[in-house]
Amino acid sequence: MSNIVSCPSCGKRNRVPAASSGLPQCASCGAKLPWLVAGTDADFAEAVDARVPVLIDLWAPWCAPCRAVAPILGKVALERAGKLKVVKVDVDENPLVQARFNAMSIPTMVLWKQGREVARQVGALQKQALDRWLDQG
Ligand SMILES: [Zn+2]
Repeated sequence: MSNIVSCPSCGKRNRVPAASSGLPQCASCGAKLPWLVAGTDADFAEAVDARVPVLIDLWAPWCAPCRAVAPILGKVALERAGKLKVVKVDVDENPLVQARFNAMSIPTMVLWKQGREVARQVGALQKQALDRWLDQG
């Protein structure tokens, strides 16, 4: 699975893979690209296996607070391009990931570093609070 992302520096549209050993860069100018992808039960292990910290967002389309968080995550991914990966998992379609994190309530955000959970936030956050949470994690 991959997403198309416009380069924040030059505007070129790039295909960003869900799983990659490196960091996504613009094919045209080399700028680091925001890395926000959808993870699934099938590719979750590869999706969170990244060199940079991973923010895992467990969400569902019917969840209003989750929808409120979505644009904030987009901004965070843009501002932290090259330093953070965001993996969004729709828990309705991916029950194995939901069960793995025992996510009873959504949104649940998990900060994942080097193969383990280092922090967890249940419930939506405003942008500033989310930045603080990421910085301490
Ligand atoms: Zn570019």
